[in-house]
Amino acid sequence: MYPATHIAPATGNIGHGLFAGEPIAAGGEILRFTGPRLTLTQVRAKGPLAANALQIGIDSYVDLDPPGRLVNHSCDPNAAVFDDLRLVALRDIAAEDEIRFDYSTTISDGWTMLCLCGSIHCRGIVTAFQLLSRELQRKYTLLGCVQQFILTELEA
Ligand SMILES: [Zn+2]
Repeated sequence: MYPATHIAPATGNIGHGLFAGEPIAAGGEILRFTGPRLTLTQVRAKGPLAANALQIGIDSYVDLDPPGRLVNHSCDPNAAVFDDLRLVALRDIAAEDEIRFDYSTTISDGWTMLCLCGSIHCRGIVTAFQLLSRELQRKYTLLGCVQQFILTELEA
């Protein structure tokens, strides 16, 4: 049983986002990402809509179904992706807070996005995990919220 969520205009004039419909405790699973599988070539063919694809392998993506595709990025996220497909609260999330995760924990290709997340920790651009600072890479790795294929690539 997942907590109630709803879609509403996101903070910062960036379209819509996913919001908590009730308080969600840290560690609580919010949703499981689902959708058809795509290759990188197929994702690139979608153009700007590529932002809706979650990378789960070097050449494997999930073309996210709603509401998962509505989850926006933050450089100071209150949620994160565990086990490649589970969106989990990183800290207590209050009802009506927007739910966001750090897209860089799921990206290893050359895709980038200018960031308007508004956090004081905002990096200004969302990039591949490998381009994050070592400190931030270590933090996310210790939390256990880095896609498995990225960890495998880094160990290689
Ligand atoms: Zn940001």
